[in-house]
Amino acid sequence: MTDNAVMLEQKLKQAIEARKTLEDARKQQVELLTQFAAKLSLACKGQDVSLDNQLAKFRIALNKGVDFEQLAPFIDGISEPLKAQEAINSTNQKALQASIRHSGKLLQKLKGVPNESRRKLRHLLDVELQDISSTNAYLPALETLVSIYQTVLQAKTEVNDVAAGSSQPQLAAELQALINELIFEDDAVDKVKEIREGVAQDDTLDNLYSAATEIIRIIAQTIARERQSAQGFLVSLNQTLEELHRSIVETTARSKSASQELKSLNSKIELKIQNLNEQTQNASSITALKALVDNELKLLSADLIAREKLEKNERDALLDSFDAINNRINMLEAKVSSYQKRLSEQKFKSLLDSLTKLPNRAAFDERLTHEMHLFEVNDTEVTLVVIDVDHFKSINDKYGHSAGDKTLQVIARALKKSIRKSDFIARYGGEEFVLLMPGMPVSQAQKPLEKVRQVVKSIPFKFKEKQVEITISLGATQFKKGDTTLSAFDRADAALYDAKNSGRDRLCFK
Ligand code: GH3
Ligand code: MG
Ligand code: MG
Repeated sequence: MTDNAVMLEQKLKQAIEARKTLEDARKQQVELLTQFAAKLSLACKGQDVSLDNQLAKFRIALNKGVDFEQLAPFIDGISEPLKAQEAINSTNQKALQASIRHSGKLLQKLKGVPNESRRKLRHLLDVELQDISSTNAYLPALETLVSIYQTVLQAKTEVNDVAAGSSQPQLAAELQALINELIFEDDAVDKVKEIREGVAQDDTLDNLYSAATEIIRIIAQTIARERQSAQGFLVSLNQTLEELHRSIVETTARSKSASQELKSLNSKIELKIQNLNEQTQNASSITALKALVDNELKLLSADLIAREKLEKNERDALLDSFDAINNRINMLEAKVSSYQKRLSEQKFKSLLDSLTKLPNRAAFDERLTHEMHLFEVNDTEVTLVVIDVDHFKSINDKYGHSAGDKTLQVIARALKKSIRKSDFIARYGGEEFVLLMPGMPVSQAQKPLEKVRQVVKSIPFKFKEKQVEITISLGATQFKKGDTTLSAFDRADAALYDAKNSGRDRLCFK
């Protein structure tokens, strides 16, 4: 072989090898591509049945290693459902985005979402949701949303649990004050006392709720009973009036018929007398006259007796019926006055505090308005004082609510005793009292009020064998020109606030 021939053969060999390498590489690429296409087709699986079928056929063909040209019909068959699927996906994506946005907005409107969750939610809606371009990318957003929902739900459940079992001293005090102002009768009194004590011992929301429900039930019962009794009163009033009316009608009818009978009897008698008169004129002898007069007088006297009897009967019947009417009127009067008494007792009770027996807040409000009116007209001096027991809560806490109640009763009695007759003291609510001193300028009130403070302070309270001193703080003011009941009260209250803030057990003026 010539050198040329050897070179040529070598080149050919190289060319064949290079082509083989190229073919191998291409084959590998085709295989890779086929696998990739198969995997891709698997990824699309589950979106649509007909697409799944086409893709399955496509994968089988790929796995068999058919020529690319033979794949063309499969690819054509897949493109249509794939395009439709794309449209569906895009619609679904939009719906998903709208739904996440809607849920997020709902959550934003909710009260009590923890701050951290609120911040995450804002970020999710304003930033994360904007950047999403594929369905899968919604998954983390959804996850975030679900986790925020969970946090909020948990926080809310905890709040409810805590609220139900949490202590609510303010609400409890308000409920107690409310109960104090209500007037109950008979069997309700004990029940209400029990509820009040229950509230004092357990001021959790749960307990307050059931206490309030129970009180409302008792009020409803009381109102129903009150209405029944009022109805009963009106019914019996009506019955008595009807009876009265009937007796009067009967009496009138009877006297009418009796007076007619009497009239006819009278005319009969008159006729007989006239007759007698005529016959006497015509009498021919004394004997005949005597016989005639004798006979006629007998008849006449029978008529007169009948008339007398009729008149007596009529008089008796009239008297009887007047008696009956009188009795009924008396009964009616008794009923009305007992009802009036009941009403005025209730009015009195409704103005009295049931624990301390002092006038209550309603009575005080009435009196304050009255004094303010007198002040506007007469310009007299009136001092108004608000009194509050110091650290009273600790009495309840240390010695129990019943001890607290007794303490309030004792303090109320002491306050009542240490003021003038013309002063007006009331329990305003809780451990607060109010005092109105008409005709007393505030400049002269210091001495008597200091005395009141000392009187309470020196009450020898003893709890659990221990001597305990209880003090009060007082805030006083005088009615001023242009005052309203509210402005005067607020000023006294502000003075009390000063007394509390400057150490308690003292009197401050404003
Ligand atoms: P301060 O010196 O600031 O007035 O303290 P305080 O403890 O007296 O005041 P606070 O308002 O904190 O508490 C008042 C307490 O009075 C709470 C409440 O339970 C109690 N209380 C209110 N009404 C009654 C009642 O009718 N009977 C009893 N036993 N306690 C009552
Ligand atoms: Mg108070
Ligand atoms: Mg107090």
